[in-house]
Amino acid sequence: MSLARGPRTARTKVVATVGPACDSGEGIEAIVAAGADVLRLNLSHGTLATHQATLSRIRSIEARLDRPIGIMADLPGPKIRLGLRVEPEVVTGAEVMLRGGRASSASSESSGTASSSGASIASIAIDADDVLEAIEVGDRVLLDDGNIRLRAFEIDRTEVGPAIRCSVVVGGPLRPRMGVNLPDSDPELPAVTPRDLELARAMAAGGVDYIAVSFVRDGDDLRRLRSVLEQDGVAPGLVSKIERPAAVRGIVDVIAASDAVLVARGDLGVEMDIAEVPVTQKRIVAAAVAAGRPVIVATQMLQSMIDAPTPTRAEATDVANAILDGTDALMLSGETAIGSHPALAVEMLGRISRATEAWADEPERVDSPEASLVEMADPWMPAIAAGARRIAREIEAVAVLAWSHDEHTAWLLSRERFQIPIVVFTSEPRLARRMRLLRGVRPLVVPPVSGRGAFLRVAVREALAAGITVAGDACVFVHGSGRDSDRPTDALGVLRVEEEGSADA
Ligand code: ATP
Ligand code: MG
Ligand code: MG
Repeated sequence: MSLARGPRTARTKVVATVGPACDSGEGIEAIVAAGADVLRLNLSHGTLATHQATLSRIRSIEARLDRPIGIMADLPGPKIRLGLRVEPEVVTGAEVMLRGGRASSASSESSGTASSSGASIASIAIDADDVLEAIEVGDRVLLDDGNIRLRAFEIDRTEVGPAIRCSVVVGGPLRPRMGVNLPDSDPELPAVTPRDLELARAMAAGGVDYIAVSFVRDGDDLRRLRSVLEQDGVAPGLVSKIERPAAVRGIVDVIAASDAVLVARGDLGVEMDIAEVPVTQKRIVAAAVAAGRPVIVATQMLQSMIDAPTPTRAEATDVANAILDGTDALMLSGETAIGSHPALAVEMLGRISRATEAWADEPERVDSPEASLVEMADPWMPAIAAGARRIAREIEAVAVLAWSHDEHTAWLLSRERFQIPIVVFTSEPRLARRMRLLRGVRPLVVPPVSGRGAFLRVAVREALAAGITVAGDACVFVHGSGRDSDRPTDALGVLRVEEEGSADA
């Protein structure tokens, strides 16, 4: 088989999820023509029969186009999901009733239930029974990767399972089989359920190239599945979806047992602090690249393209940053599965990849400004700032204390990218406000001081008062030595903070 390769081909690969928006001969051909390298079948949705039909549809397109197409079957894993019949939406501030599958089929067909106040409240069916038993009053129930947030406030334990009354903290539209997370009562279930095993064997027998394993905990989850498949005489590549903190902690073992890894940012952003997701992505990508295993970054890459023909600037930049992290592939989920512009989304990934790769290849990345530009106003300041950085590191200083009568001192100290605070003292509130923009700089406004001794007394007192230093800390100071504060910065020194706020310089 041939593979069209030319200067306009991006090197970063595209994994596209097949769903109702593109699951036809034409639809699949369009996303393949737009640049999809691997197609993902999400077994959490649809039926085994529909996925098998999609699989053979892809293979016949592959034969016709005469180019290899990778197919990845993604297992549901132990994730709880809503049932197939759902209300169109839940409204912020309203009440909803959660029930398990047993309770829902036992109750009447109508989805309304009388609330304590007598009004009818919406009922939501969840396709699991056992996990609901673990929910307690006050627990969070998160839907759709945390976009919709409920909180349990009353639980009625009936014979057919609990009926959990929740308040809707953040509402939104519901879709069938939407994912549910229970971060306060997470049952640590094995990654591969009996149902997953069945699906994996069927899809592997059907000839998929990869099987993605959801909610992997450790390498053993992969090794167990691999040995079952080997007994069947099939050996698809196993892709670990990293979406649990345990898998992040044990990433080396997980990678060693996998043929590829996938940074599943959707569930990861619910299972751990969302603020940790960006660096976690970088760690996983770096670990996979170091181990020589392909890695995929997934979820919300071009989320707004589910509706719009162009992505947001933030999305385009996120895609570029994943490429710069060194990922092998980028994945589209809802963008191609249920979006209005599946082929455009795939094309957009290619366009961003080409532009980003071209930049990453350039050896000369920035036009560095003339050194004289920063030296002109304060000729010694670049050297003083660089010296301050070196000294601060060697003496383990906790802060830089600097006097500045203009922005140059602050600019050049900030340029050194210290990891300790750069406290810049000024008597000019306007200057202090402008300095709020500078990385690492903490401006403090003080009355004008004259002479180095007076500056150091004020600086140490204020740094202590602000809680930046304590007695015994070492600091680096930067100051203009002339009587006139307009004189260029020319002094660099070291001091140790003493008990009453004086300095031993
Ligand atoms: P996961 O946590 O595994 O990513 P998901 O529910 O977020 O699961 P995606 O694969 O991200 O699902 O796809 C986005 C949406 O596209 C799904 O929520 C679902 O509504 C829809 N979808 C995907 N595949 C199918 C399918 N085969 N049939 C019907 N709907 C689908
Ligand atoms: Mg998803
Ligand atoms: Mg997921």
